[in-house]
Amino acid sequence: MNRINLSTRLFLSHMIVMIVGISTLLVVGKIYSPQLFIWHLEKLQGYGFNLIYSRRQLLEGFDSAWSRGAFWSVIVGGTSAIALSYWVSKRIMQPLIQMERITRRFASGHLEERVPANEIPELNRLAQSFNRMAKDLEGVEQRRRELVGDLTHELRTPLTVLEGYLEGLGDGTIAPSTDIYHRLAKETTRLRRLVNDLQELSKAEAGYLPINLQSLNLYPLLNSLIQKFSDQLLDDNPSLRLDCPQTLPLVLADPERVEQILINLIGNALRYTPEGSVTLRAWEATAQVWVAVEDTGQGIAPEELPHVFERFWRSDRSRDRHSGGTGIGLAISQRLVELQNGVIQAESELGKGSIFRFSLPIAPSGAFSISAIAKR
Ligand code: ADP
Repeated sequence: MNRINLSTRLFLSHMIVMIVGISTLLVVGKIYSPQLFIWHLEKLQGYGFNLIYSRRQLLEGFDSAWSRGAFWSVIVGGTSAIALSYWVSKRIMQPLIQMERITRRFASGHLEERVPANEIPELNRLAQSFNRMAKDLEGVEQRRRELVGDLTHELRTPLTVLEGYLEGLGDGTIAPSTDIYHRLAKETTRLRRLVNDLQELSKAEAGYLPINLQSLNLYPLLNSLIQKFSDQLLDDNPSLRLDCPQTLPLVLADPERVEQILINLIGNALRYTPEGSVTLRAWEATAQVWVAVEDTGQGIAPEELPHVFERFWRSDRSRDRHSGGTGIGLAISQRLVELQNGVIQAESELGKGSIFRFSLPIAPSGAFSISAIAKR
């Protein structure tokens, strides 16, 4: 029974319903119709009709007429029911078979396949769900391909440099010197940074980054960050300032993640500001607190600004300068801000400086902490 396919099942169930219907009709008709006919004849006799001699013929005539009528009803009704049920089963089965064919093609790598709309609402909903899932999967696959492509490109540069130097050292065309070893070490550091950043980005994008949301006072955190950076600044570095009221409301955020975002933003601001100042600002707005890192550095061109949060993106100038950046920092920061229910924005003017700001929601009254594995 398990091996019977759906269309046969549908057809058989229609047949069973038809057979039960016809049998009931025949049995009930065969038992009651003659009795009703006799009752009708007796009623006529009561009105004065003399049916004594013709009663038998009448009964036989009725019986034969009933049987013929029933026979032709069964033939015509049965045939129409069989044809109709075959047609209905086919109409239900056809889109299902088509869906099966499309899912098979999809599974074998044709990610552009979609199920067409169907007039049966339930099947249409199924088709829509499948199409939504297919679109998501196609997007994931597209991003995966892009990531692999970008990654190969990013890895190739330091590897080529390393290979060139090592071959030169090996065959004696490059004389070993501390400078060469420094360059080799720089390229390895670049590779390590790339791998670390990638690991962090993949965790953030896959949604497996632990986020420990809690009521957080931003002022001490911002202050200690300014302290940490100021300790490392040299005399010719830009000045670093804090502009934040001590009375800021508490925000609902993960202190470690906020620090991670700010280290990246301040690090960038210092890196791309040869001289001038970098200011860390925070202020309250409706239901949220904004934190901004403002610099008076080289700025970003208007056509480049929309790309700054894309992974691996670096402006051409910073590529030329071999800034050592991987172009992943802002992509991670954006994801971290989103995971804390905020938004991140960038504003910049070439030659004048940039502002990178992000928002964090104000904590509801009553301190609490929510630990969560961030889900996409
Ligand atoms: P990176 O590790 O390369 O700094 P990011 O994702 O942090 O990666 O930054 C991406 C690119 O955005 C940088 O390479 C740089 O070109 C540009 N950028 C980021 N911050 C600034 C800034 N404050 N001023 C000018 N350019 C910036």
